[in-house]
Amino acid sequence: MTDSTEFKKQAHRFIDWMADYFENIEQYPVKSQVQPGEIFRQLPSEPPEDGEDMNDIFNDFEKIIMPGITHWQSPNFFAYFPANSSFPSLLAEMLTATLGAQCMKWETSPAAAELEEMVMNWLQKMTGLPDGFQGVLQDTASTATLVAILSAREKLSGFRVNEKGFSELQDPRVYCSSETHSSIEKAVKIAGIGRQNLVKVKVDPYFRMDPEALHKAIRKDIEAGKKPVCIVATLGTTGSTAIDPLKEITQISKKYNIWLHVDAAFAGSALILPDYRWMIEGIEEVDSFVFNPHKWLFTNFDCSAYFVKDRNTLLNTLQIVPEYLKTKNQGQVNDYCDWGIQLGRRFRALKLWFVIRSFGLAGLRDKLLYHIYLANKLAHNIMVHEDFELMAPVNFNVVCFRYLPPGEDNEEAIDSFNENLLQKINASGKIYLTHTRLNGKYVLRMSIGQTNVREEHVEQAWELLMLKAEGRGG
Ligand SMILES: *Cc1c(COP(=O)(O)O)cnc(C)c1O
Repeated sequence: MTDSTEFKKQAHRFIDWMADYFENIEQYPVKSQVQPGEIFRQLPSEPPEDGEDMNDIFNDFEKIIMPGITHWQSPNFFAYFPANSSFPSLLAEMLTATLGAQCMKWETSPAAAELEEMVMNWLQKMTGLPDGFQGVLQDTASTATLVAILSAREKLSGFRVNEKGFSELQDPRVYCSSETHSSIEKAVKIAGIGRQNLVKVKVDPYFRMDPEALHKAIRKDIEAGKKPVCIVATLGTTGSTAIDPLKEITQISKKYNIWLHVDAAFAGSALILPDYRWMIEGIEEVDSFVFNPHKWLFTNFDCSAYFVKDRNTLLNTLQIVPEYLKTKNQGQVNDYCDWGIQLGRRFRALKLWFVIRSFGLAGLRDKLLYHIYLANKLAHNIMVHEDFELMAPVNFNVVCFRYLPPGEDNEEAIDSFNENLLQKINASGKIYLTHTRLNGKYVLRMSIGQTNVREEHVEQAWELLMLKAEGRGG
C-alpha cells in the first residue's frame, strides 16, 4: 500500500476500530486466555512473496492477534502496575509515527530536542524536584537506572573504568533494599559490578529500607576496603509500594559521598499531588531520579523521565562523537543521544506534551486522587471483612491482601489457597490481578490506576473476589 488515498481510507477505518475498542473493551477477557503456542501455530511459517491486501492483514489482526492480547487499557485491569494511556497520548503517537523522526541530535529534529527540554522542565516543576536537576526521556526505568549506575561508577573511578576496564576499581558495591525492583540487579550485572556486589539491605515491618542496616553495611564494606558506588532508594516498591526513608538515606550518601539514585518508577507520578511531596524530603542531596509517566500519568508506553543533578558526569560517561555525528552546534544544544544508551531515539516528548496540555495539572491530579480514593475504599472493605487480611499499608493505589479460609492456620495451605484463588479469578476473564510475596507470604495485589477505572469496576472486582474466595462462584 503506497497510495495516500488508500492510506486515508484505511486510517479512517482504523480510527473507528480504535474508538470502538475502547467502547467495548469490557467485553474482552482482561487476561488473554490463550494457551502457549496457540497464536504461533496460526501464523504462516513463511513470509509472503507478494504484498497482501490491507483488508486481509487487518482481518488476521482481529482473528489471530486480538485473542492473544491482554487488555491493559481495560478498567478491569488491576495487575502489576498500570501502563495506562489516554486519547491525547494516542493521538500524539500517531503523529510521532507519521513523522518517523530520529531524535538523536538537536539537528535531527530541533523541535523534538527543545520540546523535550521544556516538558522535562514542566515535569520537574510538576513533581516538585528542585532547580538544578536536568531531565531527559528514556525508554524505561530499567535503562535510566542502568545509566545512573554507569554514571556513579564513572564518577567514582574518575572515568577510568570506561578507559581501562575494572583494573583499578576493585570490589565495587551497590546498595538497595530487599524489596527493590529486579531492574537494579540487572543494571548491576550489565555495568560489570557483579550480582554478588549488590547488597540487599533489610527492610522494616512496612517494607521500607532500614537506614541503620544500610549504614552498617557501608561501614563494614569500607573497613574491608570495598568501594561503595551507588545507593538505590525506592519510592513505591513494586511489591507493596513501600517508601524508603529518603531523608535518612541522604544523610548516609552524603557522609560517605556515594551516588544516590532514586527509583520512583511507579510512585513518582504521585508527586504531582502536594500531599505526597514529603516523600522527597532530602531530594537536594540526590544525584539521579527516575519515574515513569508511562505507568501512572496517562502517557502510553514507553516514556520514562530521568533527572540528573550533574549533567557533565552523565555526558562524560556516555558521550561519544564519531565523525559522522559531528555537528556545528555541539555544546550549545542538547544532543540527547549523549544522555542515554541508544543512539536512535523516538520523539517521546510529543505525547507527554499532548497529555499534560489536554488534562491540565488539575485534571491529572483529579485522576490520581480518584484512584487513591478507590484503593482506600477497597482497603476498608478488606479490613472490615472477617476473612480477608490487608497485608501492607496502602500508600497510593495498590492494595495487598489475602484471604484466610475460616479455620485454616497453616501458612502453606493459606498460600496455596490464595494462589488458586488468583488463578480462578484471572481465568474468569472478568478482572486481572497479580501477586507478590511479602514476608514470605503469598499476597494478592490489586493496583487501581487504569485511566478509565470507576467505582463500579472496583466494587464488581471486590464482589467477585468474595464470591470466588468463599467458593460460591465455582
Ligand atoms: C516498573 C518498575 C521498574 C521497571 O520499569 P520499566 O520502565 O519497565 O523498566 C523499576 N522500578 C520500579 C520500582 C518499578 O515499579
